[in-house]
Amino acid sequence: MEHELIKTIVSRVAADILQAGGTGRIGPPIPAGVSNRHVHLSEEDLAKLFKNGLTKWRDLSQPGQFAAQETVILAGPKGTLEKVRVLGPARKRSQAEITVSDAYQLGVAALVRESGKIAGTPGITIIGSDGSVQIDEGVIVAQRHLHMTPEDAEVFKVKDGDLVEIAAGEARALIFDQVIVRVSPDYQLAFHIDFEEANAAGLKQDDPVRLVGLSRSSRIDAQVTEEPANRQGPGLTLITEEVARQAKGSLYLTPGGLITPLARDMIRERGIEVITLK
Ligand SMILES: [Zn+2]
Repeated sequence: MEHELIKTIVSRVAADILQAGGTGRIGPPIPAGVSNRHVHLSEEDLAKLFKNGLTKWRDLSQPGQFAAQETVILAGPKGTLEKVRVLGPARKRSQAEITVSDAYQLGVAALVRESGKIAGTPGITIIGSDGSVQIDEGVIVAQRHLHMTPEDAEVFKVKDGDLVEIAAGEARALIFDQVIVRVSPDYQLAFHIDFEEANAAGLKQDDPVRLVGLSRSSRIDAQVTEEPANRQGPGLTLITEEVARQAKGSLYLTPGGLITPLARDMIRERGIEVITLK
């Protein structure tokens, strides 16, 4: 009996792995977008720094975004950075996105933040051709992220705000963990990281990377609860992808029961609650 059960589990898990391509990689290759240090400016700051506004230099991969011909100087307590590219269009708040090395050079703290979440971050002096401004906060090391459309999100089986792992590089291959997924119809599929972390993996602009799966820290464990079960019949010894696909609301797992990797993806995707029985 136990032998039969083990055989069943092994064959189901093997089938799940094969279905995932045998590599643990999900979906098609994703182009890397490698960004060097840059600033976004508010309308107000832009007017002070460049009287004639911005002149487009080239379009960026995300629709509507562009690199301007204009550059600024960032001046911190310990040093400066010159020729820092301005990106357009103007935003609500000014923000400087720098690398960790840049932060040392400027003498400011290197705080990893999502773009736009600048509360509590260091300030800096920004110098343009027509003037300068002092911002009280807004210097960040951008958190690496993955842009995609809602259609892409279905293919990759992820949702907005998920943290995922991305495999990148060849000779210096790395798995980048804690990559935040950003889903919008306005986005184009791209893995955005800064120049410095790209160099760590030998990764260049437009190189393909692969989505491996959810970050280890955000996997299904958080969804497995041990609440008293109001259930019918015994719990399951094995939850496969097919079981998870058919489930409505909750699944009951016997103590020590197994969930296959693809079933975990399906559970997360469908928002199924897994209750482990006592
Ligand atoms: Zn981005």
